[in-house]
Amino acid sequence: MLDRFISRFGKEKIAVLHSKLSIGERYDEWNKIREGKANIIIGARSAIFAPIQNLGIIIIDEEHDSSYKSEANPKYDAKQVAKYIAKQNNCPLVLGSATPDINTYYKAKELRKIELLELTRRANNSSLPEVEVVDLKQELANGNRSMFSRSLYQEIEKNLEQKRQTILFLNRRGYSTFIMCRECGYTVKCKNCDISLTYHSYEKKLKCHYCGYEENLVTICPECGSEKIRYFGTGTQRLEQEILKQFPRSKNNKNGC
Ligand SMILES: [Zn+2]
Ligand SMILES: [Zn+2]
Repeated sequence: MLDRFISRFGKEKIAVLHSKLSIGERYDEWNKIREGKANIIIGARSAIFAPIQNLGIIIIDEEHDSSYKSEANPKYDAKQVAKYIAKQNNCPLVLGSATPDINTYYKAKELRKIELLELTRRANNSSLPEVEVVDLKQELANGNRSMFSRSLYQEIEKNLEQKRQTILFLNRRGYSTFIMCRECGYTVKCKNCDISLTYHSYEKKLKCHYCGYEENLVTICPECGSEKIRYFGTGTQRLEQEILKQFPRSKNNKNGC
């Protein structure tokens, strides 16, 4: 980022702030900003506190990144601070991202509290990957009870045929399970934490791994009254097992799929 800006605007006009600078270097940069010698300040999260004299615009790139929230004391959210500073200085704040934070996107798209500016072409004009979102509730309604949507199944088949590899992402390790109604998609969640309860077969209880809340097994859906309540494993171990069952051809390659 720094190289790009220097080649465009020259080194003199740019100040940089990040935690890898020595105290001396940071002092020099700080003074450069304070004295108004730097017109562009580039930095990580804490750069939002730079002593800028005549602020014209704040740009937060990759705004969806959770690291803009500081976990260390004093805790702060750089995006919130930026919003405040922008207001005080009567200047625009740009939140840039190809994959915006769901909160930001909602505020722009639905609530219209943020002006939505969309780039219809990518910077290097390359084409966007084709993305298909599959509603698994719909798959169930159409009689597909497997873990894979028909579309995903076909694509994996195709890849195997062409001897190409497939990467499946699943954000749960182990054999973790959750309870879901096959009729309406309802999942049993913790009353306190709003996360899915895990089935513990030994005690025959549904437990919350966050707060310890537990309840008895659910056999009838509290949402629609259906008895088609099932517990599912969604962890990567179960996924691996299922892949081997559905695609025995992938067995030969230990890293495959
Ligand atoms: Zn809980
Ligand atoms: Zn239901």
